[in-house]
Amino acid sequence: MLTRRQLILRTALAAPLLTVANSLFAQGAAKLVAETDPVAKAIKYNKDATKAQRVDKPGTPAKDQICGNCVLYTKVGKVEGKEAGKCSMITGGMVTSAGWCTAWAKKA
Ligand code: SF4
Repeated sequence: MLTRRQLILRTALAAPLLTVANSLFAQGAAKLVAETDPVAKAIKYNKDATKAQRVDKPGTPAKDQICGNCVLYTKVGKVEGKEAGKCSMITGGMVTSAGWCTAWAKKA
């Protein structure tokens, strides 16, 4: 569960990033983010959660954590043939619904 401070910080960080992501998507620049993207790399994003070293978090076992049920994920649809969406943390491209990173937080 996020503390109030964490929620405020994430929201403050997310808003400008979402604006950029929305802009890129509107321009038809939707693509999957590369795992070599600096931000994706920093948060250990993996397009396939089953290949990531997930750890249990309060209320959610590791095996149940994917981008698709992360609070920072907004579904977009098919991108490069995979179910994908925008991530508030990553602006270099879309993340797969089946992906995961260390910033995962349960969607309410
Ligand atoms: S788990 Fe959440 S924060 Fe991490 S890449 Fe996926 S959508 Fe973004």
